[in-house]
Amino acid sequence: MRPLQKLLFWCMLLAGLTGLFYLADQAPARATADANTPVRLLTEEGVTVTTMAEYLPFAVAAEMPVSFGQEALKAQAVAARTFVLACRRHPDADVCTDSGCCIAFLDEPGLRERWGDDLARNLQAVRAAAEATDGEYLTYGGQAIQAAFHAGSVGATEDSGAIWSPTPYLVSVESPENGENAPELITSAAFSPAELAAALDLTPTGDPAGWLGPAVPDEAGRVREMSVLGRTFSGSQLRSLLSLRSTAFTASWDGEAFVFHVAGYGHGVGMSQTGARLYAAQGMGYRDILAHYYPGTELVTVR
Ligand SMILES: [Zn+2]
Repeated sequence: MRPLQKLLFWCMLLAGLTGLFYLADQAPARATADANTPVRLLTEEGVTVTTMAEYLPFAVAAEMPVSFGQEALKAQAVAARTFVLACRRHPDADVCTDSGCCIAFLDEPGLRERWGDDLARNLQAVRAAAEATDGEYLTYGGQAIQAAFHAGSVGATEDSGAIWSPTPYLVSVESPENGENAPELITSAAFSPAELAAALDLTPTGDPAGWLGPAVPDEAGRVREMSVLGRTFSGSQLRSLLSLRSTAFTASWDGEAFVFHVAGYGHGVGMSQTGARLYAAQGMGYRDILAHYYPGTELVTVR
């Protein structure tokens, strides 16, 4: 190689490397999110690698009834896709199939059991919701958000800060469901004094009429804390220990039992699925539904 060629070679190599570094530096820090995005799915059998196209419809199907309507299903598809992109709960997987940890998931045999003859038609509906929103997910400050969702609130959703940590886009917002348009969200549970004491690991003493302290509400009106037999429990602790459907409850002694009247189902943070159903029935599109339940977020598309 002659000196001039050598110089040219090194100049080109340097330029090439600089270009590479420049490109690497400039590459937008965003996840792929479309149908072909690999999804490492943790099941009871271990981790299998699938794609967003193969995963997402089955998560949407497991999490939301198809009768909730196409716009609600699209909102659910975006929330589930976003959850997967942001989830950091498993070192070797993107998401698991345990709804108590990540998001529910039913494979085709599971859905056949649930849907029977409607399998093909319902699968088409959830696949359509995933395809219509392909590559779309919610961001805040350029990052995929923690897209929490729950079955239903009554009146308003919960502020994340009341049960987890404050999050700017997981704040309490109005939600349209009530006892008339969603009667399934109103439940009650009764406990004898012995049952209540056992569930809360307390020693029963004195007149049950004096066991319950006043419920201290949080900003969304749910139970922040309440004392029972002088011990203070958070609303979340009572919900969990007594298997109540939400922390939006009232409790009283009726002379024979402690009666808990409960509104809503789930932790109450983020999108209310029942609210999404009702908004969709009013004609609201999925983008507006998502913007309502995750205020301040941006819906981005990466295909
Ligand atoms: Zn998980």
